Amino acid sequence: MQNLTRITRTRVAWLVVGLLALLAITVAVALAGGNPGRKEAPASPRLSEELRAAVNPAGVLEHAERFQTIADEHGGNRAAGTPGYDASARYVANRLRRAGYEVTVQRFELPTSAATLDAGLRETDVTGAREYALATDFAPMERTAEGEVRAPLRPVDAGSPTSGCEAGDFAGFPEGGVALLRRGACTFGTKARNAQEAGASAALVFNDGEPPGEVLLGALEEPAVGIPIVGTSAAVGEDLLAREGTSGVRVFVGDAASNHTTNVVAQTRGGDKDETVMLGAHLDSVPQGPGINDNGSGSATVLEIALQLAELGARPGNRVRFAFWGAEEIGLVGSRHYVEGLGEEEISDLSAYLNFDMLGSPNFVRSVYEGPDEVEGVFGEYFEARGIEVETSSALDGRSDHGPFQEEGVPTGGLFSGAGGAKTKEQHEVFGGEAGAPFDACYHQECDDAENLNRRAIDQFSDAAAHATAVLAQR
Ligand SMILES: [Zn+2]
Repeated sequence: MQNLTRITRTRVAWLVVGLLALLAITVAVALAGGNPGRKEAPASPRLSEELRAAVNPAGVLEHAERFQTIADEHGGNRAAGTPGYDASARYVANRLRRAGYEVTVQRFELPTSAATLDAGLRETDVTGAREYALATDFAPMERTAEGEVRAPLRPVDAGSPTSGCEAGDFAGFPEGGVALLRRGACTFGTKARNAQEAGASAALVFNDGEPPGEVLLGALEEPAVGIPIVGTSAAVGEDLLAREGTSGVRVFVGDAASNHTTNVVAQTRGGDKDETVMLGAHLDSVPQGPGINDNGSGSATVLEIALQLAELGARPGNRVRFAFWGAEEIGLVGSRHYVEGLGEEEISDLSAYLNFDMLGSPNFVRSVYEGPDEVEGVFGEYFEARGIEVETSSALDGRSDHGPFQEEGVPTGGLFSGAGGAKTKEQHEVFGGEAGAPFDACYHQECDDAENLNRRAIDQFSDAAAHATAVLAQR
């Protein structure tokens, strides 16, 4: 009943606004001496201007500093399932609640294997044993079996892209060894089954290609393989290959202390819900560091836009929703959980999803996600009008939290300043900075701290994000 009353009242209010607007347009046309060719102006062209004036780098950086303090107080990181993440989520939720938003904290389970896999490399003479890190160096494949294995490591035709695709590759494989395989040519399931049939107790499949630090996030077609199967980065694969013969590995997939984490979602109390525009950023870091550029920068930007929109008392015609995702770093777990929980109608209510992941890379590029015109164009036109050069990029295609939305047909877009890859000569000519050097030399490392942000990138990107929010919220 309450809802119905509200709808009626809203309609009456719109009718009045409509009549006033008509009157205003008539007067304006009359004053201008009439101009029948002139198009109707957007609802409030000033909202973009006002929001951009209110969203400034100082405000964004204040949240980023806060994320740094939280990491410092909680073991140096803000990874999913850790107290550092939970404290980040509380900070964001409290700020949004105090600003008047309707806030939901959505709790979800981390996939057991992803939450808990732990692995180490141990040399037989004990000196120089190396620990590898979950999410950064390796990740258990989806549907892997659990278990713990300590065994010698044996590369299987690891120089070839067809590594492990045929039973014959395993000729002479020692019973109970851990197979080291290169990605390529056949499915992970085929490699895993061949390894199991050859007597392997576990298998590691390392990534192929660039960037070498990118961890392989694989999935097995069916849970038919009874041994732990883990993906690693190409760098870890090369490292293990170089140490072959002197080392054994420990691979563990099992239970962890905390296997829950959260998403924080806030929305405006008014606005047309059928035209909901959504902004999102992942709030979790990797376990290696505080994650201030990746992705404190995006989280801080989205949070500041939300707070300033409320502060302005703006009442955009469309509902605006802000999401802070958990567990992006272990495979877009939070955003996927959220999207899977939406009904068909709730999906169709989303007019756009904008993603912000890494906005402050020290050696930055200005990338606009490749996407449908209605979203990409908003960013494109904004930068073009200011003579600021951008590149259109599909580099993050499906690799951040817009992926699950994209799969459901929601128009998606976003901004990106570059991750661990190297800046090309061409990018250097357009964006300055250092050619051949990484966009972010601290990507997924301990040094991704509050110093690891480019203020100019934050400034330009937060303005563009504020503009897109204002435009889409009134379209
Ligand atoms: Zn990220």
